[in-house]
Amino acid sequence: MTVKNIAAKIKGMIEVSNHCVVFTGAGISTESGIPDFRSPTGLWKNNMPIDFRDFVESEEARIEAWRRKFALEDRFLAARPTRGHKAVAHLIEIGRAANVITQNIDNLHQASGINDGQIIELHGNGTYATCLSCHRRCEMRWIGDVFKASGTPPECTHCGGIVKSATISFGQSMPEQKMHDAEAASLACDLFIVLGSSLVVFPAAGFPVIAKRNGAKLIIINREETELDTIADLVGHKDIGDVMVPLMDMTAAKKN
Ligand code: NAD
Repeated sequence: MTVKNIAAKIKGMIEVSNHCVVFTGAGISTESGIPDFRSPTGLWKNNMPIDFRDFVESEEARIEAWRRKFALEDRFLAARPTRGHKAVAHLIEIGRAANVITQNIDNLHQASGINDGQIIELHGNGTYATCLSCHRRCEMRWIGDVFKASGTPPECTHCGGIVKSATISFGQSMPEQKMHDAEAASLACDLFIVLGSSLVVFPAAGFPVIAKRNGAKLIIINREETELDTIADLVGHKDIGDVMVPLMDMTAAKKN
């Protein structure tokens, strides 16, 4: 199927939907210069993820985590919302989509203009950090200054606790309220659109299944195949920006 045909089908499915939810992964952000994890050029080709337990128990692991974080910081700071982000923001603005569930930590949905209340961040946000003991927020700029000057991982200035990027690492508990919100959104929708996720990270990848089992139509747009392709109603192995740009001319549904 061509990009044009896929976009036309998505439009048609959105037009007959009463409640659409979008679910995004790292693939929606690659166009902005932020690499994903599992593409051939993804981050995991060079670095295996650092488990939460290792981060807490080992200073060496914390140093490595902050080294990686600041090695990529310029790319994250320079990144701007992609065509995919803008199209999702448009669908939410005109009321054609209710909210976006994201696995991303790059803050680009917020930067595209979507209200915080309509973004469900499953894996946290990498633009700031928190103390694992007293949960105070710490700013990345301060952490960067400390880390670059001393080479040691920062400690909380309030309680001396371990400071960690406000993201969810492997082995770390998922945020309860966000999980609850994502489940509620998945159960409330009649159309669930996945954009740019390999759908192998659980529990996040369980939400398209929850929506589909509850009767929603499922669309998956991802360059590579995913394990959920076989249960989807529409699959496009295409570039997200190319598929989503034609949706920018959609208008709000007419009121009865
Ligand atoms: P993933 O790397 O496992 O999968 C991304 C998928 O997107 C790949 O299958 C790839 O083929 C596809 N893709 C990449 N660019 C695309 C494009 N332009 N158009 C269409 N498809 C494209 O990512 P995931 O499923 O989100 O899971 C990885 C985890 O990594 C998530 O938990 C997330 O927190 C984290 N992560 C986030 C970022 C970010 O915030 N931008 C970046 C890397 C990793």
